[in-house]
Amino acid sequence: MTAFPRWLTLFSLLAVAAPVAAAPGDADFAKALLMKGVGFDTVKGRGKVPPYAAYLKSVLVAGGFADSDIAIEPVGEMANFHLVWKGSGKKPPLAIAGHMDVVEANPKDWVRDPFTAIEADGFVFGRGAGDNKFDVTMVVSTLIALKSQGFTPNRDIHLFLSGDEETEGVTAELQAKQAKAAGVELLLNSDGGGGGIDAAGKPIGYSLSAAEKTYADYQVTVTNAGGHSSRPTGTNAIAQLAAATTRLADYKFIPQINDITRASLIAQGRSTGGATGAAMLAFAANPRDAAAIAVLRAEPGLVGQIGTTCVPTLVSGGHAPNALPQKAVLTVNCRIFPGVKVETVRAELEKVVADPAVKVTTGQEWVSTPASPLRPDVMAAVTRAVAAARPGAVPVPAMDAGASDSVYYRALGIPSYGVSGMFMEEKDVFIHGLNERIPVAAIAPALVHWRVLITELAK
Ligand SMILES: [Zn+2]
Repeated sequence: MTAFPRWLTLFSLLAVAAPVAAAPGDADFAKALLMKGVGFDTVKGRGKVPPYAAYLKSVLVAGGFADSDIAIEPVGEMANFHLVWKGSGKKPPLAIAGHMDVVEANPKDWVRDPFTAIEADGFVFGRGAGDNKFDVTMVVSTLIALKSQGFTPNRDIHLFLSGDEETEGVTAELQAKQAKAAGVELLLNSDGGGGGIDAAGKPIGYSLSAAEKTYADYQVTVTNAGGHSSRPTGTNAIAQLAAATTRLADYKFIPQINDITRASLIAQGRSTGGATGAAMLAFAANPRDAAAIAVLRAEPGLVGQIGTTCVPTLVSGGHAPNALPQKAVLTVNCRIFPGVKVETVRAELEKVVADPAVKVTTGQEWVSTPASPLRPDVMAAVTRAVAAARPGAVPVPAMDAGASDSVYYRALGIPSYGVSGMFMEEKDVFIHGLNERIPVAAIAPALVHWRVLITELAK
């Protein structure tokens, strides 16, 4: 007889009679759940978010939650998954968020089928194994374990899983409103933050995401009457747009700082050292330090931390090779510093272009949000959680480039924190990319992370 690995036994059981009550909260249980979850191809348009939501519900119900604790509401072809674990009501409710959908993956480009989870070389491979089914699974496993062990939260715990985080974000917008209506006072977003380890598995840092830049696209447009290409008029829409593009690409926004980026730059500056580390510390002390700004602007990984950035990303123009162009359009993608309005940046871009024939517009309402305050209760709980999961790890506040589901909650005044339980080596991060994977060894500490985090905030 071949001895099957334990997860395979669990996996087969899950496949036959979905919910399994065996050893909830243990790493093998969570791994089986994760692998089964990857099998739901939850890319937009394939209708697999509702079955994945139903599956998660079946697992939670088998783990001790009541059927009526969990609502699955259709949102287009996606779903809004909403669990409420009633607490004693001593404190206002908290919410945990994650997303069920995944980014597209072309099986032809992958070494293995992206929608069949495979364990090999110490990893679980599959689209969504990391983003965000890893933390969704860890949270679900932890809630089942706590429930089965008789834990009673002192506040309601809402679990919101969205269905279109990677695309429209409609579900999260709805969920944020539901959270607000339920009196939720803070959000733990499993789809943000997280830690790094070195090759020996030693933690090298943990980011607690407390702010997010605003994502916005602008259209820079030149239109005119055009004409025959044999009769140049002296004004040319493509040439005008090209000149405007150069000005926009050369423009630098005034650097900015907030509590979160200051804390992050100080912590990173100390551990980075060298000229870059010194520049991070100098900027944290004085955000007008020109020499420090020059060093940080030259680093693609840091330039976005010190202010708004905008870059030309798409261009189109003209309609025939033998006609003067009647229209030329440039898309400029911006990552706006928290607290700055989308309209303020639009007006600034128009000033930079400095040509009345060139219009800067944006066709969409982009959600802009303030940074979340570094609440002492959240900081203390996350500090305990990461230290328990990965001894030696200390959380450092961080600002993300945007945009996660947290923006909808922050926009309604609910402070939100990206607090993933994942720690992995930089070289293994293939989120949104080819051959996405997570280390099997990351599962057990992530369960510790979520257990400590939830119990600290709801005990
Ligand atoms: Zn994600």
